[in-house]
Amino acid sequence: MASRSIEPQPCTDPDCRRQHAPAERVALAMSLCSARGMQLTELRRQVLELLWESGRPTGAYELIAALRLRASRPVGPPTVYRALEFLMSQGLVSKIESRNAYVPCAHPERRHDCLFFICNDCGAAAELEDLRVEQLIAGHAAILGYRVTRRVVEVEGTCASCIAAGAA
Ligand SMILES: [Zn+2]
Ligand SMILES: [Zn+2]
Ligand SMILES: [Zn+2]
Repeated sequence: MASRSIEPQPCTDPDCRRQHAPAERVALAMSLCSARGMQLTELRRQVLELLWESGRPTGAYELIAALRLRASRPVGPPTVYRALEFLMSQGLVSKIESRNAYVPCAHPERRHDCLFFICNDCGAAAELEDLRVEQLIAGHAAILGYRVTRRVVEVEGTCASCIAAGAA
């Protein structure tokens, strides 16, 4: 199945600043998985493609509805949740708990913590990968004797384009 051609999206990572085309990031995910001996099955790949093409945090039921149009056979919620679990275990996707929605990670090739700036107006989420956040959390966890299993920082507010639109 040919994927739709989607505009490259500017990367919000401070060390990157390139444009990432969805197809190129999905190809990266496929090569990462095969290098790790993991299988990016057709359905897992389609879920990742949909998340890239969506361009905003997307809920599981929106994904299920989109997959109904794309997949050759009907897919139920458990199948989609399993695909999402796999994608998260590989660092390809992250979940934004406050939105109950999923976003693709721009740089799955390196271990990273996810720092999200979420817009309360348009729902957009910019992901930053900043080592200083990781070091800060790791340092405090060490002082507390705490073992971290998941590090996702969610910041809520208004994005630059919504601020500009409101000011106009
Ligand atoms: Zn990037
Ligand atoms: Zn991430
Ligand atoms: Zn916004």
